[in-house]
Amino acid sequence: MKIQCPKCKQTVPPDQVNMTTDLAFCPQCNDGFKISEVIDQEPVSADVLRDPPKGTWFRKEMDRVVVGASTRSPIAFFLIPFMCVWSGGSLGGIYGSQIARGKFDLTMSLFGIPFLLGTLVLGSIALMSAFGKVEVSIGRESFLFIGVGPLGWKRPFDWMAVKSIREDSIRMQRSNGSSYAIVMEGPQRLRITGLTETRRIFVMNALKYLRDQTPAR
Ligand SMILES: [Zn+2]
Repeated sequence: MKIQCPKCKQTVPPDQVNMTTDLAFCPQCNDGFKISEVIDQEPVSADVLRDPPKGTWFRKEMDRVVVGASTRSPIAFFLIPFMCVWSGGSLGGIYGSQIARGKFDLTMSLFGIPFLLGTLVLGSIALMSAFGKVEVSIGRESFLFIGVGPLGWKRPFDWMAVKSIREDSIRMQRSNGSSYAIVMEGPQRLRITGLTETRRIFVMNALKYLRDQTPAR
């Protein structure tokens, strides 16, 4: 990746770039700068909003704009049946049998807790892959929403204070693969994960475009 000095616009030599600390040093200007603040300065054309790809949307409302994407994925065809069998089998066996017998069994119930937690985690992933969406809502109050229909997780953030919007790779701990996230860096760091490449690129470019349009930054 080429990193340009924000002052003289020269490409900074690779050995003067430290991605880990987010710092680069320009020998020409004899000055340092934060990489995250220059990496995404390329302007994005308004065309980006004209034709959102399938599974993404851009909406203007009275007092806000909304950029969103579906987290639907074919993996749902596997996850949903798997979850029904796995959760149904384990929870049915552990708790269903107690209910059927009308007798509470403490040991069995404690044994079942990991299966309950697993069902919650797996269940939310399965639901997101079948019906989920991610939306960034920008207005007087801005927030990131991740969820299914009206249910989900809503995190307010300060759009005016977003310094950079970029793509970041996340290493998967268990497998060797990596996946990508959109990172909005400001006083808080917001991450948007779980989108296909096409959707992720649309959402990222739309956000960059909107940021460029936001006056008085
Ligand atoms: Zn320079």
